This record gives sequence, C-alpha cells and structure tokens, in this order.
Amino acid sequence: MSKYWSTVVRDLTPYVPGEQPKLANLVKLNTNENPYGPSPRVLEALKNEAGETLRLYPDPNALRLKEAIADYHGLSPQQVFVGNGSDEVLAHVFLALLKHERPVLFPDVSYSFYPVYCALYGIDYRAVPLSEAFEIEVDDYRKANGGIIFPNPNAPTGCLLPLSEIERLLKANEESVVVIDEAYVDFGGESAISLIDRHPNLLVVQTLSKSRSLAGLRVGFAVGDAALIEALERVKNSFNSYPLDRLAIAGAVAAIEDREHFERTRQMVIASREALIRSLVELGFQVLPSKANFVFARHPAMDGAELARSLRTRGIIVRHFELPRIAQFLRITVGTDGQCRALTAALAEILGASE
Ligand code: PMP
Repeated sequence: MSKYWSTVVRDLTPYVPGEQPKLANLVKLNTNENPYGPSPRVLEALKNEAGETLRLYPDPNALRLKEAIADYHGLSPQQVFVGNGSDEVLAHVFLALLKHERPVLFPDVSYSFYPVYCALYGIDYRAVPLSEAFEIEVDDYRKANGGIIFPNPNAPTGCLLPLSEIERLLKANEESVVVIDEAYVDFGGESAISLIDRHPNLLVVQTLSKSRSLAGLRVGFAVGDAALIEALERVKNSFNSYPLDRLAIAGAVAAIEDREHFERTRQMVIASREALIRSLVELGFQVLPSKANFVFARHPAMDGAELARSLRTRGIIVRHFELPRIAQFLRITVGTDGQCRALTAALAEILGASE
C-alpha cells in the first residue's frame, strides 16, 4: 500500500495464477498445460520469424492469424478477434460487452478470474449456484442480466454442458450477450462456434494455451457476430495496438494449420484422462465427469488441502482452491501417462499411510 496508489488499485484483489516453480523434476499438474510440446511447424515458423523484420511493428490486426482461424472454423475474418492470451480477450469482453446496468451472471464455481475483471471495471455480478452435482442448470439463468459467461467445459469442474442446452439459453436470452469460454473444449466438448451464424448474441472465446500447447506464446481469440467483434476491436485499439507480436502471430498460424499434430496430441490427452479417472476411482476418489484436460476429484477420507500439501512434499503439484463448496477437491491436470502414474502412486502411498 502506498499513498501514490489510485483508489481503484487500493480496492483490487488480483487473480493469482497457479505457481510456476523453478524447481527441476517436479511433476507439474497444476495449471492445465499440455504435457506434449507444440507442433514442430510452430518452432520452424518461430525460427523463420526471428530475424531482421523484428525491427518492424507487427500487423496491428494480425490478419494472417484471423484468416487462419476463420478458415479453420468456416467463418470470415470479420468474425474473429485475437488477443494476448484468452485472459486478455476476456478482459476486453467484460469492458466491451458485459458492462451494463444489469448484473453479469456466472456460476458460483467457475473461472475465478471473472469476478476479478468485474472488480477492475466496476461491473456488478451475481454468482448462480451450480446444482448439487456441480452442473450448470440453464433455467437458473432466466433472470434480468447484463450478460452471461461461463467456461464450457466448466473450470475447475471439467463438466460439459451440451450444445442443445446452450442453444436453449441463447434463445431465452436474446437481449444480452452470452459468452462461452471454450478454453478446454478440444478435449471432448462440442464447440458452440457452429451456432454463431444463428445467434448474434453469442461470443465464443478459445485459447491456444491448452490443446495447441502454446501457453508460453500467449494467444487467444474470440469469434462471433461482426458487431460483437467490432466492440472488442474498439477496446483493444484504445488500449494496445499490438497485443500480438510477430512471433506470436507466426507461431499461432502454424499451430492452427497443423491439424495432424493437434488431433494426435489431443487424443493422447483424452486417453490419459480416462485412464487417470479409472485409477482415481480405484483409490476411492469421487471424480466429476470431465471433458477437459484436468479432473476435479475429492477423497471422502482425506482433506483436500492436506492432500495437496502431501503431494507437494513428494514433488507433485496440483491445484487446490480454498473456496466455498470446493475446498475438499483437487484439480489435477492430465499429464503424460508416466506423470499420471507418479501421481496415483503417491496418492496410494499417502492414503495408505493415513489408514
Ligand atoms: N479461461 C479459462 C476457463 C481458463 O482456465 C484459462 C486458463 N487459466 C483461461 C481462460 C486463460 O487462458 P490463456 O490466457 O492462457 O489463454
């Protein structure tokens, strides 16, 4: 705290991302990174871009990347917005499309950055409780709102809402924007992008951090009706003309174009997830049905925080949230099969020792 701080800064409670420890040999299952590297074509594109042209500003519109995303999803570039990670895209979404008289609605158990954006921009919100089974109930969102946002699959639960339910929500809510944050959709979900042409109030946000294994490059995007995209461009061009540098644009284009690498690695993660769930259930865990690259699990006989601490002393880090309803859960990123086996072996040891 300092006398030089603005009142806005004084009142902020910033989001705290999962830690990125410098220790070697950690089994790092805490921030939902992809255990496999990005496409070799990305690395090639980065090498080609790392040259004399870095003295020049990048394309402020990142048109090559918008075209690659539009081409991949059967859209026009005017329906695509790109940003420095989907966190930046989401920040612009809150200011451009969700700041209204009426409150924004999102689930009580959801991405914990959403309330942080609301506080930053002075946006009123209501947390809508998930069901007992930690599912989103679309009918609970039938109330006056200035917008609706949730991840699908939801985070940190991993639970997927079917597309038919999203369409029902869109039809019941034509006066405000519905934002579907699809950070994890490529691990078993069905994207709502197919609904964009029929619903001008739908915005879908995706990231290259997870299924494209590019968390370190910082690229995310939103797709929707051109009028929604224009709102995001207005905020972006009032904030930073060049959020994506030359390397990010070149690498992201290569990642979108390498469909074979994408398909192969995401199927590997999905197969590892299913094996991990089976092992956790055998150890007595309750595991929520996950369509993401992480699982959300609790053990009836062991405290969540305690489990996370015990894993840490064995060199394995997972995410634990000290929050209402979910303090007994661990969010475990799906690693390689080897990492998942190290995790379940450590859990077996911890649980055995506590008996
Ligand atoms: N949305 C959700 C639901 C997430 O879990 C994350 C990752 N923390 C993001 C968005 C942001 O991802 P990125 O900024 O790396 O694109």
